[in-house]
Amino acid sequence: MTAAGDRLGPTLFERSRPGRGGGRIPHPPKDALSRIPPDQLRTEGPHLPEVAEPELTRHYVNLSQLNYAVDTGFYPLGSCTMKWNPKVNEWAARLPGFASLHPFAPDELAQGTLALLWELEGALAEIGGMRDVTLQPAAGAQGELTGILMVRAYHRSRGDLERTEVLVPDSAHGTNPATASMAGFKTVSIRSASDGGVDLEAFRAALGPTTAAVMITNPSTLGLFESRIGELIEAVHAAGALAYMDGANLNAIMGRFKPGEAGFDVMHINVHKTFATPHGGGGPGAGPVGVGEKLLPFLPSPRVLREPDGSFRLERPGERPTSIGRVRSFAGSAGVLIRAYAYIRAQGDAGLREVSDDAVLAANYLMTRLTGVLDIPFSRHCMHEFVASGATLKAETGIRTLDVAKRLIDYGFHPPTIYFPLTVEEALLIEPTETESIETLDAFVEALRSVVEEAHADPDLLHSAPHSSPVRRLDETTAARQPNLRWRAMTGEQTPCPD
Ligand SMILES: *Cc1c(COP(=O)(O)O)cnc(C)c1O
Repeated sequence: MTAAGDRLGPTLFERSRPGRGGGRIPHPPKDALSRIPPDQLRTEGPHLPEVAEPELTRHYVNLSQLNYAVDTGFYPLGSCTMKWNPKVNEWAARLPGFASLHPFAPDELAQGTLALLWELEGALAEIGGMRDVTLQPAAGAQGELTGILMVRAYHRSRGDLERTEVLVPDSAHGTNPATASMAGFKTVSIRSASDGGVDLEAFRAALGPTTAAVMITNPSTLGLFESRIGELIEAVHAAGALAYMDGANLNAIMGRFKPGEAGFDVMHINVHKTFATPHGGGGPGAGPVGVGEKLLPFLPSPRVLREPDGSFRLERPGERPTSIGRVRSFAGSAGVLIRAYAYIRAQGDAGLREVSDDAVLAANYLMTRLTGVLDIPFSRHCMHEFVASGATLKAETGIRTLDVAKRLIDYGFHPPTIYFPLTVEEALLIEPTETESIETLDAFVEALRSVVEEAHADPDLLHSAPHSSPVRRLDETTAARQPNLRWRAMTGEQTPCPD
């Protein structure tokens, strides 16, 4: 059997026929070719596929329909918040005044965009309880790096050069330790307590004069609210270190918990997870970083400043020598930030609180309904996502979480995140988000229930799933290590998935 199902048609190269084409260039100047310097002329054709316009259009439209997307179905990918993005935000981001603005336009001609960015900084600072915000970082991971570079600058500015460690709980997202290493720190991993929360005593024991910062995700990557956060932050500050909050899960706490007010010194926000920007396909994100008093001087430059006369301008190079400098070109991912602004303004204060409340309600509903279908290792109240486990199912049937995930595709659902967090055996991290209807959640429960029944009755069905997708089960290692993404004419054994 081949890995490619029958919905994958021929490539454009295979459809190509010599001389076939789309439009014509009207009235090309007669001397067009002689105007090009001879050494710049091609000596052979460009090897492009030759197809007619309808073939081209159909090819790409058909390809687009092979993708699973939040616009076509439920996407309960935990840790990623693949939520519905209101289309009005797309309209806002495409307004010509924003979309056509040249990044080098002088401040006088960019007043509208600068005003929007300035207001967005204020809104995000208010939501996070932080003193101020930079919009520059391009994603959560870069926001983390920006935050930890500010932490480094803070300690250095005080002549405190012994702080070489960053403490991170073992359930943290992989970007946390990666960030600490990139900023030149040593990551110290702290084991979670048996209830999934941070182990306060273990943190207390590890804190000391070499600790630069503690990175905490709250709610944690297990979907649990850290109830002893106040005590932890006190201990961090008493040790002279700073408290970093990974704010990727802000979706769960808006209007209920302000990290800055709880004492966090710095936090990044994944705008594309909490404030409605499509993501997941590698498109741009944004990772604004909020800071408290101590880190204000170190914010990246240029900042958007408001003059006494109400006009806006970008900070000039060198204007604030304490800044860690620029971390991204221009003012950040402007299109993403405009979407976030439109979303925040449309929701307002009460709307954002409702977003979080509904996300938490949906997750708790799903978790409760799945009890008895899969293992629920931490059955206390969850936030916007929760961990389930297929450990018992594996022990009883040999079916792994991977097989369950692949079989869900046949039921028309995108699988949840699997094998993360690493601290839970056969984990599934499930995040329904606030935008899904109860009917969708119920259908998802029934699908999972049915897959678990199949695991007992007909395990082979699951081992070979998915059966209905454009691409069948791939060898995970080959797909990850030798991704074959470029077309070449190949036959037989040369093909990535030989018959
Ligand atoms: C998504 C995520 C990140 C990384 O954010 P990106 O925007 O993907 O770079 C960091 N921490 C947690 C907990 C996350 O869920």
